[in-house]
Amino acid sequence: MSTQTTTLLIIGGGPGGYVAAIRAAQLGIPTTLVEGGELGGTCLNIGCIPSKAMIHAADEFAKTLEFAGDSPLGIRVQAPHIDIEKTVRWKDGIVAKLTGGVGALLRKNKVTVVKGWARIVDGKTVEVLQAEGGEALTISCRHLLLAPGSVPVALPNMPFGGRVISSTAALSPASLPQRLVVVGGGYIGLELGTVYRKLGVEVGMVESLERVLPAYDAELTKPVQASLLKMGVKLHLGCTVQGLNASGDAVRVRDTQGQEIALPADLVLVAVGRRPHTEGWGLESLMLDMAGRAVKIDDQCRTSMRDVWAIGDLTGEPMLAHRAMAQGEMVAEIIAGKRRHFMPAAMPAVCFTDPEVVVVGKSPDESQQAGLDCIHALFPFAANGRSMTLESTEGFVRVVARRDNHLIVGWQAVGRSVSELSTAFGHSIEMGATLEDVAGTIHAHPTLGEAVQEAALRALGHALHI
Ligand code: FAD
Ligand code: NAD
Repeated sequence: MSTQTTTLLIIGGGPGGYVAAIRAAQLGIPTTLVEGGELGGTCLNIGCIPSKAMIHAADEFAKTLEFAGDSPLGIRVQAPHIDIEKTVRWKDGIVAKLTGGVGALLRKNKVTVVKGWARIVDGKTVEVLQAEGGEALTISCRHLLLAPGSVPVALPNMPFGGRVISSTAALSPASLPQRLVVVGGGYIGLELGTVYRKLGVEVGMVESLERVLPAYDAELTKPVQASLLKMGVKLHLGCTVQGLNASGDAVRVRDTQGQEIALPADLVLVAVGRRPHTEGWGLESLMLDMAGRAVKIDDQCRTSMRDVWAIGDLTGEPMLAHRAMAQGEMVAEIIAGKRRHFMPAAMPAVCFTDPEVVVVGKSPDESQQAGLDCIHALFPFAANGRSMTLESTEGFVRVVARRDNHLIVGWQAVGRSVSELSTAFGHSIEMGATLEDVAGTIHAHPTLGEAVQEAALRALGHALHI
């Protein structure tokens, strides 16, 4: 067994770990990154990027299907066909380009990348079983950064295996099933359930709560639920899954009346959440303080052990790639001697449904719960010219601001392409903008962004286009 020494040792090459490695190396810190799977982690390989690629492919297919019918645009095409193997290859090509890019960036910045699975010996020592028959390696370090991500939660009465799959398999189908049952109407269930429905699969969705995307407020998710129903997704809300039937080709579900129904399924996607990846790599030996199933951290991502840091999904909700990246960058800077704290004014969250949902900062209810006296106003895309030219007038932009000084504390939007508005929303909150600042900014015409300005104007009592 050979031995190496480094200043910063990072376990996990996902968005948290690889960003921390690049920034640390830029700041001159000798850095080693250990990755057992593929660089880019869940995000680039089996999460954010592949799911958005499949969403795009499904959108394009659905568009051509519409053109094969009676399109109001006067466009007429022959009924389309999808070669799903080719679609998956195209998606894999994007993944390969991005993960290759991460490898190149790490090399350029002189990060030592070790391919293999790390096992913690103590807070300063890690053993790595190197991939591809390489020898076992012991690495000792001054700082240990834990970024091993999360794993999908399994249902005890319907574990993964056979036709019960997680998002990973759902992102790389060899062929399309006739009938898919999705368990969980959260981020993954909705994003991937929509993909399969748009590709022509019969989709049933079982959600234990009374509405889809229960983490968001009901007004915001209403257009998403309506769109799912319009697409033909069969929603089973407030229902509990009992397991597969005896022949394994249907999901047994207890409905709101307590009756058991069977939903026939060629494939079952279980998407009932993810949990921090805490088992199987020696983490328990450090006996770190925990916050539930997540590793407890302070506002600098320090764990309860000196010079052991944790970032990303390992540290719990919200499990989002941009949070992991921001934490990773910050930890590298603190180790380099800079004064930093993780105190974002808001954490954007986007669900890439059809229509998309974006939330930055506080909703009206959350601001009330926080004891703030706020006003709020919404502007519907039905009154926005650009939305009409894009044939998507459903949804709205909503702003929440303090009544006394009009400081903006939250933005929410639902509608086509609103994910891109998250940037403007984040900027205005992080920079402490007031309603007057946004209302007084010239917004290009015709754009969806005009709804942002109009929402601010409406909150001030003088919207122009409604
Ligand atoms: P990960 O990305 O999970 O990376 C951890 C890495 O550590 C992995 O590569 C793993 O192989 C490695 N590792 C683990 N243990 C060891 C070990 N012992 N030794 C060596 N290596 C190890 N987030 C968004 O913000 N936007 C989205 O649109 C979005 N879409 C998603 C879609 C899906 C289907 C899924 C599943 C997730 C999605 N997410 C999205 C969540 C996002 O992927 C995660 O929040 C993010 O990847 C977390 O980053 P991380 O660095 O903490 O961990
Ligand atoms: P989720 O927490 O978003 O949704 C899980 C859903 O399953 C919830 O609505 C919950 O009420 C429901 N549920 C739980 N147990 C159930 C049961 N037994 N039967 C029926 N329904 C049940 O989790 P997810 O969709 O698995 O996604 C995991 C995480 O990945 C997300 O929390 C998010 O952090 C990340 N993610 C983010 C994005 C994005 O940012 N666009 C996309 C995908 C995933």
